[in-house]
Amino acid sequence: MTITTVRGVRDILPEEMVVWHALEQSARQIFTAYGYREIRTPLFEKTELFARAVGATSDIVEKEMYTFSDRGGDSLSLRPEGTASVVRSFIENNLHRSLPWAVYYMGPMFRYERPQKGRYRQFHQMGCELFGAEGPLADAEMMAMILRLLRTLQIDDSLTLEINSLGCGTCRAPYREGLFAFLQARQEQLCDNCRQRLQRNPLRILDCKNEGCRAIARQAPAMKDALCVGCADHFSGLQALLDGMGLPYTVNPLMVRGLDYYTRTAFEVTTTALGAQNAVAAGGRYDGLVAEMGGQAVPAIGFAMGMERLALLLEGKRAGKSGQVGNYLVAVGDAATRQALLLAEEWRAAGVPLQMDWLGGSLKAQLRRADRAAASQVLILAERELAERAVLVKDMRDGGQRLLPWEEVAAVLGALR
Ligand SMILES: [Zn+2]
Ligand SMILES: [Zn+2]
Repeated sequence: MTITTVRGVRDILPEEMVVWHALEQSARQIFTAYGYREIRTPLFEKTELFARAVGATSDIVEKEMYTFSDRGGDSLSLRPEGTASVVRSFIENNLHRSLPWAVYYMGPMFRYERPQKGRYRQFHQMGCELFGAEGPLADAEMMAMILRLLRTLQIDDSLTLEINSLGCGTCRAPYREGLFAFLQARQEQLCDNCRQRLQRNPLRILDCKNEGCRAIARQAPAMKDALCVGCADHFSGLQALLDGMGLPYTVNPLMVRGLDYYTRTAFEVTTTALGAQNAVAAGGRYDGLVAEMGGQAVPAIGFAMGMERLALLLEGKRAGKSGQVGNYLVAVGDAATRQALLLAEEWRAAGVPLQMDWLGGSLKAQLRRADRAAASQVLILAERELAERAVLVKDMRDGGQRLLPWEEVAAVLGALR
């Protein structure tokens, strides 16, 4: 019996990594250009962190977390999302003294969900968190940054930016009561799932996918009409800034986001590039979370993007561009092979990117492997070249070849910086 991966988990093979690298590189460039710096938090945390930050009654914490006791008896969980750890780190490292604080992360997250195409139990997210900026400027700029990243990746067809306001501690409680009363009066028309969450989280019913629930949700009172003055100003300020930047958006009063900690601005960027309307980025403001987690009250906003979906979108755009080695060194015969190892080290030290053929054998066999590795140039060292202290450089694109003395290789082919 061979051992396979755990259900819902997969390898990202080298052929796919080309797309992942392109994705990660563009994201790093854009995030850095906007002033965000990378943070790497642990893959596992105390279970209590997610229970408090994400919400003990959320689907994620109740049904989807990988929770286990370690050998010391502590309850730990693999991170199901990135924000909780960043907030924990912000508080733990006393970063309220160095506001504003802007960070990005990328890496694996873990949720025990039913595996489907494109959905895995270990999946990857990248995202940004900005602490200390209270006004709508931060919100608008963050949305512009996401759209810029997507345009850089050429994932810019049929993008939609949807925004909503979820209110704050002051205005959400009375709204929630009104919504609860509205939904309770219609509870026999709700799906089973929604009837169950009516008490605990009536807001989530607004984004239920069930047709019956959607019909009711469309008639339900909207949060955006129940905002307090501060929240209403923030929301209209955000729309004015988006208008000013010429970024098209739609207000979606039914978008409530899955996590309990959001306040005021919530947003999603969706695309139809993979068929159905799919979110490629989602986020929002969480002004109350830091204080709730035991820190000093600090306004904050963030978003996350699922990297599997972005990789899938990129794959279509970049078909044919596989991983490439630049130069490929082929040696024929024992003496040439021994010399090739020494020369390869010498040239690499001088800045020449160079892959050596690892298997040896006939020139023909080695050239075939060079071709499969998509080498742009092959350096051939056989008996004749060894005697002349030169290599035959063969261009794999046009087939042209020339003899190059060893001492000139670094100057001609050096590219590593
Ligand atoms: Zn409010
Ligand atoms: Zn429902």
